[in-house]
Amino acid sequence: MQYSERLRKLSTYLFLKIEQRKKELLKKGVEVIDFGVGDPDLPTPKNIISAMRKAVEKSQNHHYPLGTGLPAFKEAIAQWYQKRFSVSLNPEKEVLVLIGSKEGLGHLPLAFLNKGGIALIPEPAYPVYQAGTILSGGIPFFLSLREGNNFLPDLKAIPSNIARKAKILFLNYPNNPTASVANKEFFEKVVKFAKKYKIIVAHDNPYSEIYYEEKPMSFLQIPGAKEMGVEFGSLSKTYNMTGWRIGWACGSAEILKGLAKIKGNIDSGTFLAIQEAGIEALNGPQEATEEIRRTYEERRDILFSGLKKEGWQSHKPSATFYLWAKTPVGYTSEKMASILLEKAGILATPGSGFGPSGEGYLRFSLTLNKERIKEAVERLRKISL
Ligand SMILES: *Cc1c(COP(=O)(O)O)cnc(C)c1O
Repeated sequence: MQYSERLRKLSTYLFLKIEQRKKELLKKGVEVIDFGVGDPDLPTPKNIISAMRKAVEKSQNHHYPLGTGLPAFKEAIAQWYQKRFSVSLNPEKEVLVLIGSKEGLGHLPLAFLNKGGIALIPEPAYPVYQAGTILSGGIPFFLSLREGNNFLPDLKAIPSNIARKAKILFLNYPNNPTASVANKEFFEKVVKFAKKYKIIVAHDNPYSEIYYEEKPMSFLQIPGAKEMGVEFGSLSKTYNMTGWRIGWACGSAEILKGLAKIKGNIDSGTFLAIQEAGIEALNGPQEATEEIRRTYEERRDILFSGLKKEGWQSHKPSATFYLWAKTPVGYTSEKMASILLEKAGILATPGSGFGPSGEGYLRFSLTLNKERIKEAVERLRKISL
């Protein structure tokens, strides 16, 4: 089979590779403790499931959803932004419903990049920014995220000829995989930079509600951000809804119009019943999310102190459900990941899988119960590095 050039430029999705490796080990009888994929292990809250049950019975929900989303769901998103971030959004024009935020992030470059157009992409990062750019014929220009700069990109280091040609800047805070959080000063610099060079900012914000200290902010809280920026939101992590496939983009109406046109030609919208369940998620009781935060916090503390005792260096994350740990001196990410797998049956993602600047780190996802985490710490203690 002759695959297209653009397809050949894509690598196999990182987590598909890791899943494959896990399956092989399970077959060999190894009992794997999986800190790999960032997919919540807990179920979707009951009130959301009940809303879905009711919504799926309604025959008017059995049709093509079409358009930019169910008006009542878009209204709920706008109200949530007002309440949570004090950001005003016009629900009709400044909110676009997606089939998960990954879908929108992947399609965005198709609307704004011409062949050879540049997208500024942080690394290490969630892989879809790069994949969407390549599929649209664009060229990624990578911004390396370093510990010394709090894993924020150094905008001043971008050559001005690149900045002038760039069309999109992708960002993601709280960050996957580094768990870093951005502050207002950084986002203000981003707005200034984007205005100067007329660059679209696509801020991916699915972890805004997975925090343990200060509440993370929205990029759209910065004055002027809405003129050239969109923020991607998701129910996946906040409400344990990764499998449902629902998210949104909000912000600049002009940018959303472009993305909506791409989507109108490719997909036909998000199942209406899921959008109705989404209204319940945002408007209903929020205790479940409180509980989710407490659960991850407890897990974080167990793993953090366990790793520390064994001499591993990491920052205690203040948001996201990831722990970004430095590999012990003398080991690459890949090498350490395979040692952990083979000697201890512990699966962690090599940081280098998210980009070259992730070399020297491992990402532990806290999406498994605390007994398993304690067991992993025990196993770590027993292997001698
Ligand atoms: C999980 C995740 C998403 C996910 O979203 P969906 O809404 O489930 O598509 C997007 N970006 C990052 C960085 C993530 O970690």
